Amino acid sequence: MYLIAGNWKMNGLPASARELASGIAGKSKAGGVLPEIALCPPSALIPLVAEELSGSPVRLGGQDCHMNENGAHTGDTSAVLLSELGCKYVIVGHSERRADHGETDEMVKLKALAAQHAGLVPIICVGETEAERNEGRTEQVISRQVAGSVPEGANADNVVIAYEPVWAIGTGRTATEEDIETAHAQIRVVFSKSAGPAEKLCILYGGSVKGANAGPILKTKGVNGALVGGASLKVDDFWAIIEACP
Ligand code: PEP
Repeated sequence: MYLIAGNWKMNGLPASARELASGIAGKSKAGGVLPEIALCPPSALIPLVAEELSGSPVRLGGQDCHMNENGAHTGDTSAVLLSELGCKYVIVGHSERRADHGETDEMVKLKALAAQHAGLVPIICVGETEAERNEGRTEQVISRQVAGSVPEGANADNVVIAYEPVWAIGTGRTATEEDIETAHAQIRVVFSKSAGPAEKLCILYGGSVKGANAGPILKTKGVNGALVGGASLKVDDFWAIIEACP
């Protein structure tokens, strides 16, 4: 099944979050075959988004979690808390966290493990920067990130990978279908060597996905869904991506 996850990033206030979540929940209740849909709001908004999603098939996710269960970590959120608040997923290792907070592969792996221990499915993000791509290092970077960020013993049921070329995030530029297919195939190869069987692994593409380009991207071989930033902030924009699922 396809997974379409909306990463709201640091956007939304209580009223707008309620409106967005209830709009998505309302559409999801209209019936028809749907992909798995997840909304990942800022953590302070999770309880009210959970209220709006109640009774709908739309799932909740966090945008980050700490690697420890509790303790002196001011400002952080534990995976256990996200789980108690009703989350199924948590994004870990997003390129904005890797860049803004110096998160390393090892830290991302520990966060993914904490998520798994809390019963969450981590969405582990990998992807090359523009400079790395221009230097011809895309394959090397993706391999290092998958091998270093994915916990041993990970499998298709307890982990999701998101391939997000950093240069495509929020820029309006997307990787070509050929590049996406190559990257996803490579992720499966590295995953199968460092973690476990990867044929059924859910690999999302992320980077400026919108209604207009979602169809071809989602039909690309090896793509099992999308992680969506900007276009997840408006009901109709997000829903156009959901409707583009094959
Ligand atoms: C993201 O933040 O994960 C993302 C893919 O953002 P956007 O869709 O805006 O490029």
